[in-house]
Amino acid sequence: MYRTHTCGELRMQHVGTEVTLAGWVQAVRKFGSITFTDLRDRYGITQLYFNEQLNERLDATPTGREYVLQAMGKVIERTNKNGKIPTGDVEIEITDFKILNAAATPPFTIEEDTDGGDELRMKYRYMDLRRPTLKRNMELRYRVNRSVRNYLDTMGFWDIETPFLIRSTPEGARDFVVPSRMNEGQFYALPQSPQTFKQLLMVSGYDRYYQIVKCFRDEDLRADRQPEFTQVDCEMSFVEQEDVLQTFEGLFKHVFRDVKGVEITDAFPRMTWDDAMWYYGNDKPDIRFEMKIANLKTPVYGKRASEEEPSHLWQGAFPVFNSAETIMAIAVPGCAEYTRKQLDELTEWVKRPQIGMSGVVNIKCNADGSYKSSVDKFYDGDRLKAIAAYCGAGAGDLILLLAGNEGRTRKAMSELRLEMANRLGMRNPDVYRPLWVIDFPLFEHDEEANRWVARHHPFTSPKPEHIAWMDDLSKYDDIKANAYDIVLNGTEIGGGSIRIFHRELQEKMFAALGMSKKEAQEKFGFLLGAFEYGAPPHGGIAFGFDRLCALLGGQESIRDFIAFPKNNAGRDVMLDAPSEIDDVQKKELGL
Ligand code: ASP
Repeated sequence: MYRTHTCGELRMQHVGTEVTLAGWVQAVRKFGSITFTDLRDRYGITQLYFNEQLNERLDATPTGREYVLQAMGKVIERTNKNGKIPTGDVEIEITDFKILNAAATPPFTIEEDTDGGDELRMKYRYMDLRRPTLKRNMELRYRVNRSVRNYLDTMGFWDIETPFLIRSTPEGARDFVVPSRMNEGQFYALPQSPQTFKQLLMVSGYDRYYQIVKCFRDEDLRADRQPEFTQVDCEMSFVEQEDVLQTFEGLFKHVFRDVKGVEITDAFPRMTWDDAMWYYGNDKPDIRFEMKIANLKTPVYGKRASEEEPSHLWQGAFPVFNSAETIMAIAVPGCAEYTRKQLDELTEWVKRPQIGMSGVVNIKCNADGSYKSSVDKFYDGDRLKAIAAYCGAGAGDLILLLAGNEGRTRKAMSELRLEMANRLGMRNPDVYRPLWVIDFPLFEHDEEANRWVARHHPFTSPKPEHIAWMDDLSKYDDIKANAYDIVLNGTEIGGGSIRIFHRELQEKMFAALGMSKKEAQEKFGFLLGAFEYGAPPHGGIAFGFDRLCALLGGQESIRDFIAFPKNNAGRDVMLDAPSEIDDVQKKELGL
């Protein structure tokens, strides 16, 4: 038997017990004729005490960091207790030990914070995973996985596997392809998601399906993406949007409670896509704080029938505002005291290429009720006061205004809002503010390719009242879909839709996306065919499992929540993959 207990188990009640532990040497501390060693395993750390006799043996067979050691001895009470670890009241007085395996000096320290850089840590990932930080992440991931499965099981979902070697599914990204040896010159694609399969399972009558499944997308890996990532993929039959939202709101509440002890009793707020863009400048609003965007001038007013553009606020002497397509503002709480230097810094910030604005206008709402602005020259106190009122700014607030082209300005304002919230510490990772964003547009115009593409994917159903508009190109921008996203703290963690389930509408959708009848039949004949054999109304959702784990772990990056991730260039630096293959292999594959 290698061990009687783990390194995280022993307490005062074990004093006097003879035990055997096995694990990795975390640290060795020698004091003259005695030695202390910290032994680590997945469960914790226990201090070993080598008395004089044993110390001599230890000298003859020195153990270093990361050696695998088996140690026998008696649990004794420590004189010098360590309150920081659960086993800190006791230590083992060693009577015998055995080195199970030696270890070379690790290339970085195996501790909470390491001195190893990202690439080095990934190259020796098996050692990096020994660090408490990563171990906690892996445990959290496992707990989230269990929690999701438990909930879906009680709700009657079946876990059904779908194939990895398929024909490409159009989720909008590039496919990874796999050459077929038996069908020379032909290729499989790895699924970007099991989308069409889960729909077919609904046609099969399985009613409720889920899978925690790998998806593959060959995208540029900026912004913390991985070429293979994990989704919790779900589909339900005979449901409307409301049923899906209720079911998955329940799932998230369950997981938050189970894994984090966070109880959310209220219904998740719902916001239309239009409102998210209007008030937050993006479709994944962080609602942990307010600071909503005030729209002073924008072409979007034309689409918001109930609202009137407040042109009296900006019309007048300031040429930049007069000519800008869009003017918008946020009121930043308590920042009226910003110094000249801080304001200059903000100007530099908005001028960065990622933000791309030429400047930012400010209005300070002073505590004494007066206003001071970078555009004082153009607008008098009354006008500034009216702008402040429109922006909901109070005494002590700082109003920041951006003006320019609609798309860029809205994006910049969204970033500026988040930046100011970061500076003000308003984005506390321990606060969970989930919401549903609903009523997404069905289409999106791809400027580069100059064509309409599906914003979600081509299987998403339009709102029934908008189906007729699919015959009128000028209406494409206004067609809304039965599609929804779940957003947590400014991050989209999942999305789905109610699907099309009639052949005619699916064909109409493919045609709207510029696909010929022949092409549609070639690529999606199987699905169109299935829709002729009794397809039920259905809908579903998928959420990013890596991202959800990172959020629950209070971290930004998903990488350390994946046991063996790839780097930014899509490489596995430990395996050194992708790699060349030999000529024989190539020949077999007909490459
Ligand atoms: N398959 C979709 C995706 O991966 C999710 C869904 O519509 O269920 O985004």
